[in-house]
Amino acid sequence: MGHVLGIDQGTTSTRAIAFDPAGRPGASASRPLRQLFPEPGWVEHDPNEIWTAVCEVCRAVIDEVGAANIAALGITNQRETTVVWDRATGDPLHNAIVWQDRRTAPLCAELVKEGWSAHVTEVTGLLIDPYFSATKLAWLLTNVPGLREKAARNEVCFGTIDSFLLYKLTGGTQHITDATNAARTMLFDIRNGRWDPKLLERLGIPPAILPEVRDNRGDLGQVSEEAFGTTLPIRGAAGDQQAAAKGQACVLPGMIKATYGTGCFVVANTGNRETKSINRMLSTILWQLDSAGTYALEGSIFMAGATIQWLRDNLGLIAEASESEDLAREANPQSGVYLVPAFQGLGAPFWDAGARGAIVGLSRASNKADIVAAGLESVAFQTRDLLTAMRSDMADAGIGRSDILRVDGGMTANGWAMQRLADILGEPVEVAPIPETTALGAAYFAGQAVGVYGDDAALARTWEPSRRYEPKMDEADREARYTGWLEAVDRVRSKQA
Ligand code: ADP
Repeated sequence: MGHVLGIDQGTTSTRAIAFDPAGRPGASASRPLRQLFPEPGWVEHDPNEIWTAVCEVCRAVIDEVGAANIAALGITNQRETTVVWDRATGDPLHNAIVWQDRRTAPLCAELVKEGWSAHVTEVTGLLIDPYFSATKLAWLLTNVPGLREKAARNEVCFGTIDSFLLYKLTGGTQHITDATNAARTMLFDIRNGRWDPKLLERLGIPPAILPEVRDNRGDLGQVSEEAFGTTLPIRGAAGDQQAAAKGQACVLPGMIKATYGTGCFVVANTGNRETKSINRMLSTILWQLDSAGTYALEGSIFMAGATIQWLRDNLGLIAEASESEDLAREANPQSGVYLVPAFQGLGAPFWDAGARGAIVGLSRASNKADIVAAGLESVAFQTRDLLTAMRSDMADAGIGRSDILRVDGGMTANGWAMQRLADILGEPVEVAPIPETTALGAAYFAGQAVGVYGDDAALARTWEPSRRYEPKMDEADREARYTGWLEAVDRVRSKQA
């Protein structure tokens, strides 16, 4: 007894991990997920492949731990990815359209032109973008032959990956989703927890195909014998970034986590009130427990670990991402070199899609160590840009601030980068106790529901970082470097911005 199984259905892999009563990861299994690119800018996944992988990884972990030792199951998933399936058979009616897919950019542009931006932000907390599920679902209804007619006969279910898995796991008895996933569809009114009738009507989406929205913790059904060869209670579900915030025990207003993978996702707990952003951050649901919402601001950096990949693959300055740490230590601390990774434009708070990247401040003495260090340092500067914007929104809303950043993700392995992050922010940086924070968050929700884990106050008390970096740089140095960064950013901005 006392273990909790966490499923992490991510963009590139599907994993299951068993967590013990202390939240330590034990048995685990993983399968890679094929990325399908039917046309430029389109990204799809095969829902059947996802479902098969979930069954395989869960069966492997259950075999190792023993079904009798698992008290509950929690799910976390890639958000926004859109699935439609047959209500009677559970068979997918098309490949899943993945969050990265840009095919609905024209429809989004139409919505903006028709003046929907204010309504979307007011109701859903989001900015109109192909990223979210709404226009992907509209595209499917318009382009999959017979789908709209089938939906009109109430023979179709729509859902994000959590919803599809909950349906399959429960043998088709539950067509539900959780509030955090619902909040990423761009169809959900986060102020009152209802699907928005105006957006549904504009996009031609019949309300009957939508899942019922549930709390992140509680009774989400029972796994059918058929799926895992044993039954298990499903007691938690949350989108990946929200699950990571839970796994980082960001349970109090003001607490912030940043996940440094390919990109970086920053999520701030803003408490029981929705906080509107004047800095174009997304306003979303952090989690919903006992029907009460806790809200979040979310922002992202396009190029975090991806900058290191670029130094490796495009410039060949390093053979492995991990080499960047030793090289950065060799760099001249006063090189004056800045790398602005605006490869896809600049995000928050500059919002300049036309900007492009640059390496500035080069001198005859500059070398590859200086450039690699500048690449790592750019992640710290971008984090400061984002946190400044986010905290200004939070201060406007009267939310107290926590002066610590909790971090997880692949890049946190780099001690130099994390120290530099603490130095540039001027605040401590705490690295998650385990790398699998996202799956841990899902397990926390499920385990709390069945009494394996204590309440949030208990989680906050027992949560301990694996490492903590204190800022060591003196104030003048920090500010001079940050000013240098802002000047470098200025030099890459597009003329029209
Ligand atoms: P994702 O989930 O987006 O695939 P991960 O959390 O697995 O990302 O992190 C992988 C990213 O972290 C890659 O972009 C890689 O370049 C970067 N990375 C991994 N190890 C290091 C390191 N030691 N130093 C700097 N960057 C690293």
